[in-house]
Amino acid sequence: MPYLIKRGMFSTLQKDKFRNWATPFFFYNLNLLEDTLESINKEIEGFPYKVHYAIKANTNSAILKKIKEYQLGIDCVSGNEVKHAIKEGFEPKNIAFAGVGKTDEEIIYGIENEIFTFNVESIAELKVINEIAERLNKKAPIAIRFNPNVNAKTHKYITTGLEENKFGLNYWELDTLFQLLEGLKFIEIKGIHFHIGSQITDLSVYQSLCNRVNELQKIFLDRGYTLDHINVGGGLGVDYNQPDENPIPNFTEFFAIFKNFIELQEGQSLHFELGRAIVAQCGSLISKVLYVKEGIKTNFLIIDAGMTELIRPALYQSYHKIENITSESTQKVKYDVVGPICESSDCFGKEVELPLSERGDLIAIRTTGAYGEVMSSSYNLRDKAKAYYNEDI
Ligand SMILES: *Cc1c(COP(=O)(O)O)cnc(C)c1O
Repeated sequence: MPYLIKRGMFSTLQKDKFRNWATPFFFYNLNLLEDTLESINKEIEGFPYKVHYAIKANTNSAILKKIKEYQLGIDCVSGNEVKHAIKEGFEPKNIAFAGVGKTDEEIIYGIENEIFTFNVESIAELKVINEIAERLNKKAPIAIRFNPNVNAKTHKYITTGLEENKFGLNYWELDTLFQLLEGLKFIEIKGIHFHIGSQITDLSVYQSLCNRVNELQKIFLDRGYTLDHINVGGGLGVDYNQPDENPIPNFTEFFAIFKNFIELQEGQSLHFELGRAIVAQCGSLISKVLYVKEGIKTNFLIIDAGMTELIRPALYQSYHKIENITSESTQKVKYDVVGPICESSDCFGKEVELPLSERGDLIAIRTTGAYGEVMSSSYNLRDKAKAYYNEDI
């Protein structure tokens, strides 16, 4: 457990290296990633469980290589993600493919490469997959995604399991579904799929999900469908407030809910699709102070990273812990920490208490391993930030 010896803090050696690298950049601690993966595998050992890593959270090769070493599968939400996963050495039989808007090309690619499942999000999509599979003369493996109408109690932009959301089928479509299925000869129903949202910290939400899953599984059984697997998606949250105190999510508590409440049938497997919980804490965005500018209430700390590298604060009003990792001042000052992009929403935090900071200081924005680098853009013609790893030091 090399990471746990030095929880979070950046070593003097690392900081010296950081000074030589052009900012902003992402820094990933692969030791923490390993500890996280080990912790997951410890919980699922001996259970018919399979964890798929939701690759949209971070697609870097070094990260995927570790994830592959720990034998996770992959969850994709686009054809290019499926291609990327295969290129990175993941076996198609461990790749699940969700998404409300799969194109014909993406469906063809998935069928030809014999992926684990298409997680189907609408009746219309199911018909199209059947047509395409017929043309290719192959059966398409399907899990039907259902909208369980469970409130994930998280930000509305990352809630996906309510009837008003665009994802999955609703329960009132079940009759139509079963009628239709009889005629769809190129569809193989392998499972049912759910994913109710992201950054879920109230774990009782998963208990509600388990109840819905059991009800639905019963409906399928009554109709004569035995399911090969159940896929309960991902969404487990991380501690953005205290990344050093809680670098690894409480997987014991998370998996215990499913161990206790899901009624698995004989031979059935239970699948998970975790993204954020696996990679968020291992990444930090390292930036440099460009200017300290006087404001009316608080001073602005203008840094060289912006919403182009990390859009979460601007998009979801999300909190990331911000640290000045080089100042030696004992004086505490409140700053609005902002980027250089020409948008007022380009702000990482208001009234953030930091040691007295000056031009050239290094700033770490923590917990950026998930939905950071992958959501970066070139707006304002910005350069793409590089990624470095603890192994580079
Ligand atoms: C995004 C996504 C996930 C992963 O979500 P996290 O909150 O990162 O765990 C899992 N399944 C599906 C279908 C998704 O779209």
